[in-house]
Amino acid sequence: MSAAPAGRGPQRGASPAATLERKFQRLGLRDAQDFIVHLPMRYEDETQVVPIGGLRAGQTGQVEGEVLHSEVQYHPRRQLHALLEDGTGRLALRWLHFYPSQQKQLARGRRLRVRGEVRGGFAGIEMVHPKVGAADAALPEALTPVYPSTDGLSQPVLRKAIDRALQQADLSDTLPEAIRERYGLLPFDQAIRVLHHPPPQLSYHDLVERGHPAWSRIKFDELLAQQLSLAQARAARLRQRARSLDQDGLLRRLRERLPFTLTSAQERAAAEIAADLRRPFPMHRLLQGDVGSGKTVVAAMAAAQALSSGSQVAIMAPTEILAEQHFQKLVAWLEPLGVEIAWLTGSLAPKARKAALAAIAEGRAGLAIGTQALIQDKVEFARLDLVILDEQHRFGVGQRLELSRKGETQGEPGYIPHQLNMSATPIPRTLAMTFFADLDISAIDELPPGRSPVLTKLVSDARRDEVVARVVEEVRQGRQAYWVCPLVEESEALQLQTAVDTHARLTQALPGLSVGLVHGRLKPAEKAQVMQAFRDGAVDLLVATTVIEVGVDVPNASLMIIEHAERFGLAQLHQLRGRVGRGSAQSVCVLMYQAPLSMVARQRLRAMYETTDGFEIAQRDLEQRGPGEFLGVRQSGVELLRFASLETDAQLVERARAVAQELREAFPRHARAHLERWMRGRQDFLRS
Ligand code: ADP
Ligand code: MG
Repeated sequence: MSAAPAGRGPQRGASPAATLERKFQRLGLRDAQDFIVHLPMRYEDETQVVPIGGLRAGQTGQVEGEVLHSEVQYHPRRQLHALLEDGTGRLALRWLHFYPSQQKQLARGRRLRVRGEVRGGFAGIEMVHPKVGAADAALPEALTPVYPSTDGLSQPVLRKAIDRALQQADLSDTLPEAIRERYGLLPFDQAIRVLHHPPPQLSYHDLVERGHPAWSRIKFDELLAQQLSLAQARAARLRQRARSLDQDGLLRRLRERLPFTLTSAQERAAAEIAADLRRPFPMHRLLQGDVGSGKTVVAAMAAAQALSSGSQVAIMAPTEILAEQHFQKLVAWLEPLGVEIAWLTGSLAPKARKAALAAIAEGRAGLAIGTQALIQDKVEFARLDLVILDEQHRFGVGQRLELSRKGETQGEPGYIPHQLNMSATPIPRTLAMTFFADLDISAIDELPPGRSPVLTKLVSDARRDEVVARVVEEVRQGRQAYWVCPLVEESEALQLQTAVDTHARLTQALPGLSVGLVHGRLKPAEKAQVMQAFRDGAVDLLVATTVIEVGVDVPNASLMIIEHAERFGLAQLHQLRGRVGRGSAQSVCVLMYQAPLSMVARQRLRAMYETTDGFEIAQRDLEQRGPGEFLGVRQSGVELLRFASLETDAQLVERARAVAQELREAFPRHARAHLERWMRGRQDFLRS
């Protein structure tokens, strides 16, 4: 080992207490209130000693026995070995790192108690790095809590700090007794004590599976805090000011020019948005509709209303292709009405970029469309009053706020822009009631007329030839197809290579056809060219990586082939499938998979086969992968719910919602105390 350079050692100069405090802070533990709700992530059953002969690989076990022998071995590398025996069997113990003191502890003839995970070793069973203690010590009577911890912070130290907090902290209940009793909830102090110090008779299963009433109380409290916080954010929003956008001259002219009749779902959503925009506080609405349901035109109508009122509008999309789709549509709809539209992405040439920035800053461009480039420092709007985010879940909390800030005006009155979020990923009910409770939701739950549902087929990639023949057939009938290359998560280079190879192979296999290729490494101009050729029908088959995932709209494409479909997530497959079925022809989506399938992949593909209902798919996705996908909080890495689970605690969510309202109306002091106990400064993450 090399010595740390003088003065650079991590703990030099810091008192042990300060060092400990830093470790606590790393866990978010600052005062007694933090410690008491730092709850065990699991429990260990150290109440019993079992015979070595009864141990099974894979279990955690605790045994007592005599050390038969111990030694330091050198192959394959230095390690400490010992053999323990108790009359029913022998257990090998092994350490890859150890101190001389441990060697002494394992002296031959010693009687020890060891605890650890049992593994099948070379010669019988073994434990690696077990916990070791004296054999005769009294066994604990209750389960031992194991807390989330951090490097260098041992369980006993953490446990002691928590126990101290339990004595100091205010454990009074934040729920009025009547409410607590109505819902059969345990008192807070009782619940918290049970979880930190489970009584002996408590079932291991209830504690670990979190079915015990003590856990229910904690989950309820957590969900209640979330509901209270959301309600607070909502109330705060209603106090904010926004420009009332109450003119609709342009909107009416746009409607007259539309080449189709809106569906009644589109009409409903448009009316809700129009009403919001007329109000003097900022809209915060989610426009949710399955792929192809026609969200763009609804967004265009919102934009037209804002433009009629002399305001600017920004539309931000997560990818350039998607932003470009919007640009093309909106140019077609709004430019003839005299609206100037600025286009802003990262790949713009400096001159074009400068022109766009000037048009936006001077207010000449009523509408700015682009990617994240819109939130860069240089971008300044003259009077931005509406921001529209497409595929909102792909943006982080911070990015959403930043676009909104572009429109904030200082002074009296300080205006905040209206915000319209769009998403093709439906939000399951529990999420709508929790993380999205502060969003008003408009759903487009109906597809434009003349669409027939996409037929989904699961085909093993052993039958690739048949799939290729299918492409020929489709093209012969005058239609077009997509061929999506497998996702290669480990390597972008490999993914690119796969796409290039696939394109080469298909070009060779389909001599009469025009086969195009689009992937993420193409320059935006090249990408746009390929997409345009496909749109114009000059390309029959488009080989693509997942860049076509969102926004591509080519009604004549009626066949979608997804290779290695088992590697994609449900939401992604659903999005991809939504690229076809946009015209009147019967469309087919072929999910090609490679056997054997994992359990999860099988479930996923089955879900795709069984339903085309976006809501159903979203619900199953939530069950399989948790809420991260929907929230877009992955970038900020914040775990907002530590104990409750939206997948299994739907009923608690409903109750928490009702109680939150009751507290705010009738028990504001309780509501404040509850937030203080549970949120501890994390409210901000719920506000965007
Ligand atoms: P998404 O909701 O997936 O963003 P789009 O807005 O791209 O869907 O709409 C999909 C296609 O349907 C577009 O070509 C659009 O012009 C068309 N469309 C939208 N609304 C209607 C309608 N009411 N009738 C016919 N076609 C429509
Ligand atoms: Mg769209």
